[in-house]
Amino acid sequence: MIRIVTLGPFDDTDIASLSRTLYQAFGLGTEFAGEKPLPASAETDDGRYDAEKLVREAQSPRLIADDKVLFLTGEALALPPGPLGEPPAWGYAQQGGARAVVSVKRLPARGVSEASIEAWRRRLAREAIHFVGHLWELHHCYDGRCAMHPSWSPNLAANPDADLCNFCREKSERKVRLAKT
Ligand SMILES: [Zn+2]
Ligand SMILES: [Zn+2]
Repeated sequence: MIRIVTLGPFDDTDIASLSRTLYQAFGLGTEFAGEKPLPASAETDDGRYDAEKLVREAQSPRLIADDKVLFLTGEALALPPGPLGEPPAWGYAQQGGARAVVSVKRLPARGVSEASIEAWRRRLAREAIHFVGHLWELHHCYDGRCAMHPSWSPNLAANPDADLCNFCREKSERKVRLAKT
């Protein structure tokens, strides 16, 4: 089961659309578990949120067995700097763990037209699949069309699809199957 927790206001229909996409991508029941406050302890000096800390400290519904929780926020996220400086953060996941966050801050504007909302939802779905994929132990993928291709990559398409490549899909299906048995 994937539980979605919003850390701020989100549109119900956007959440319903995201739940459907996650269900299709992973074959796992996905449900909205309500809105919770942002953990103040994760706020950084520059007003962003420390992604690792947020994921650890945000309130989650009780998770059983292999449940995963995906937090959604509109706030900008901060990650610890790597050798090339601080990577831009669309989200963060505990690799092989239970908790992940996606921020809509870096997404293209949602706008008000059907087309722009559709594009926004597709991009949100892509980021959500990416970080939930990490929870299922998926790694980054070289296929520029795959949702596991990192969003900071220069090879990312301008309007990327929200789907896993066959390799990543099969790997995630294997992991999910193992967890269910
Ligand atoms: Zn990643
Ligand atoms: Zn892939």
